[in-house]
Amino acid sequence: MRSLVAYIGLGSNLADPRQQVCDAITALQHLPHCRLIASSRLYRSKPMGPAEQPDYINAVAALETSLSPFALLDGLQAIEQQQGRERDGQRWGPRTLDLDLLLYGEQQIDDARLKVPHAGLAVRNFVLYPLQEIAADDLIVPGLGRLKTLVQNCSQNGLELLHRC
Ligand code: ATP
Ligand code: CA
Ligand code: CA
Repeated sequence: MRSLVAYIGLGSNLADPRQQVCDAITALQHLPHCRLIASSRLYRSKPMGPAEQPDYINAVAALETSLSPFALLDGLQAIEQQQGRERDGQRWGPRTLDLDLLLYGEQQIDDARLKVPHAGLAVRNFVLYPLQEIAADDLIVPGLGRLKTLVQNCSQNGLELLHRC
């Protein structure tokens, strides 16, 4: 099967968030039909949504994969479950691990279960900055244009760069 590059956004703000993100990067390496190409450094960000929750640790990883986008999403959600993700219905509430499929090659997907590029990508500095770290300089985000321009238009405010795993 043909393979392409998918980018995964990682986030955690519970139960040792740095370790959660680093463990998840390791788990991504073990997904079937996937090869980890790169992972960004870690970043600390302020929570979106409910303010009364801890800061987040974020990173972005690049996977070469021959999985379909839906099979990849299944794999990401299985890793979230393995790392204790609980869904209590609260939007953007605290979580041990969140894995978002940011980009899947050059494809645009508009399905009830899966939207790619990820809907928040263009306005989230904790996605754009780590993504820029590991993406090609001339990456085009389908439907949104050059990654570089998206980064230029998104303030780095509140985003703190940490070391890598
Ligand atoms: P946000 O999507 O705004 O970052 P969230 O990550 O907190 O919010 P979740 O509760 O983790 O949202 O996911 C809700 C649903 O979003 C998932 O069940 C999944 O079906 C759907 N979804 C749609 N597009 C994507 C995507 N690109 N990556 C991951 N999940 C997606
Ligand atoms: Ca998310
Ligand atoms: Ca998610």
